[in-house]
Amino acid sequence: MIISVASGKGGTGKTTIAVNLALSLSNVQFLDCDVEEPNAHIFLKPEIREKFLAFIPVPEVDEAKCNACGKCREVCAYHAIAVIPPGDSGKGSVLVFPHLCHGCGACSLLCPQKAIKEVNKEIGVVEIGQARGMQFIHGKLNVGEIMSPPLIRQVEDRIDSDKTVIIDAPPGTSCPVIAAVKKSDYCILVTEPTPFGLNDLVLAVEVLRKMKILFGVVINRSDIGDDKVERFCQDNKIPILMRIPFDKEIALLYSRGIPIVQEKTEYKDRFRNMFNKIKERL
Ligand code: SF4
Ligand code: SF4
Repeated sequence: MIISVASGKGGTGKTTIAVNLALSLSNVQFLDCDVEEPNAHIFLKPEIREKFLAFIPVPEVDEAKCNACGKCREVCAYHAIAVIPPGDSGKGSVLVFPHLCHGCGACSLLCPQKAIKEVNKEIGVVEIGQARGMQFIHGKLNVGEIMSPPLIRQVEDRIDSDKTVIIDAPPGTSCPVIAAVKKSDYCILVTEPTPFGLNDLVLAVEVLRKMKILFGVVINRSDIGDDKVERFCQDNKIPILMRIPFDKEIALLYSRGIPIVQEKTEYKDRFRNMFNKIKERL
C-alpha cells in the first residue's frame, strides 16, 4: 500500500505526520519526495548506505547536421528549445535551455536530421539508508536546479511494493506534488484551521479529485483558528482522519528534531487508528 502525505501549503506539519505515521507501523519504506527541501532525515536520522547521482538527459545539437527546421521547438512542450530560423544573417541555429528541459526525449526522437544527441545533466542525488527499522530513501535537488519531478520519479522508481510505503510529498499543488502522489493508493492532506489552510486545502482537494486518488484530511493545531475547514470537509464528505490539538510539548519536540511518538507514545495508537481507517476505506 502506498500512502502519500501532502498539503496545499508548507508549514502545516506534513513531515511530522508522515514521520510519525511511519514510526507507528511495521514493514515500512519511507520516501522523502520533498526533494527541494527534504527534512524527514532530521527526525528519522537514517544511516545512509548508498548514494546515486541523479541525471536527466538533455539535448545537445550538432550544428553541422542541423538545418534549423524548427521541429524540435514545435515538439517541446516545455519551451526548452528556441530556433533562430535561417535568413540573410546565416543558416540559423538552435538554443537549448537545459533548466527548462524535462528530459522527455521528444526532440531527439523527432529531429529529421538526427542532429540531436542526449547528454546527461546532473540534477541531484538519491540517498538510501536505514532508519529505525525502516528503509529510508530521499532525493536532494541540487541548489539552483528547478526541475524536481524527474528526481522525484527516480526516488519513486525504488518503491518496494511488499512494504507499506509512506511518501512525504512536496507542498503545494503543482507538478512536483503530482509527480510525488500519482502512484499513491491514498493521500493524507494535512491542513490547519485557518483561512490560508482552507484556501490551499480546497486547491489540493481539486487536484486529488482530478487524479482520482482517495484522500482524507488531518487537521493539525486543530484547536486554534476557526471551524471553516471542518465545515468544508463535512459539506464535501471528506473524512477527517485525525485532529492534533496545539501542544507546546509537540512544538518543543519538533524544534529538537524528535518525533512525537518517541516521547508521547499514546500517539502511536492514534496513528495506527488512522492507518486502519485508511485501510478500511481502501
Ligand atoms: S529538429 Fe533537428 S534539424 Fe530541426 S532545428 Fe531542431 S535540431 Fe535542427
Ligand atoms: S528532451 Fe523534451 S523537454 Fe527537453 S528539450 Fe527535448 S523536447 Fe523539450
